Amino acid sequence: MKKYNHIFFDLDRTIWDFDASADDSFNRMFSKYGLGGRGVPSLEVFREHYEKHNDLLWSWYRKGEILKEVLNIKRFEMTLADFGISDNGIAIGMSEDYVKVNTEKVFLFPGAIETLVYLTPKYPLHLITNGFQEVQEQKFHIAQLYRYFKSVTTSEEAGIKKPEPGIFHFAMEKANCSADESIIIGDDLVIDIAGARNIGMDQVYFNPEGIRHKENVTFEISCLKELIEIF
Ligand SMILES: [Mg+2]
Repeated sequence: MKKYNHIFFDLDRTIWDFDASADDSFNRMFSKYGLGGRGVPSLEVFREHYEKHNDLLWSWYRKGEILKEVLNIKRFEMTLADFGISDNGIAIGMSEDYVKVNTEKVFLFPGAIETLVYLTPKYPLHLITNGFQEVQEQKFHIAQLYRYFKSVTTSEEAGIKKPEPGIFHFAMEKANCSADESIIIGDDLVIDIAGARNIGMDQVYFNPEGIRHKENVTFEISCLKELIEIF
């Protein structure tokens, strides 16, 4: 196998179980704001509407068309509006709770710590994430991830988001390494995998749900502990 000198990780949905943490937040918010009594049929339906608006707003945010503050409130405002709720106080409250509550508990994928403990003495580990700086910092703090990573790059700090080459170059400069000696582990075929391939970096596709695809990836895993066999 090719020898790698540096390993990069994505954070959300790769190390941090973003969906489990979001489920927990939505559960709490649904009862806190009494959404069931305000005409929202169920939490599942609310989530479906939210995901649709959130995906759209994130695509705008990734292109730099809207600010993160706008994204953060709008996704709740638009979702609430779908159910005829125009109380802006609720949208603001939810947007504040969401970025806070979802980091109150540790939501890591199975085997995350064990794998990081194995890799840390063997390779310098780095992180590249598109998430908001203060939110990602909370996750890092709560899960005590700082001890494993030599460098952390957020898109907010780099001023550019994955899959743009700029953020990979920014992160590699910080890590003092080049693409051909590095590999990235990520869950997103476009943002992580194609993004890395475009700058000549090998990739490990973390695919816990076994999504079918035709991408040409260097390695594919369904559980983080498989990294112990690869590296
Ligand atoms: Mg991800």
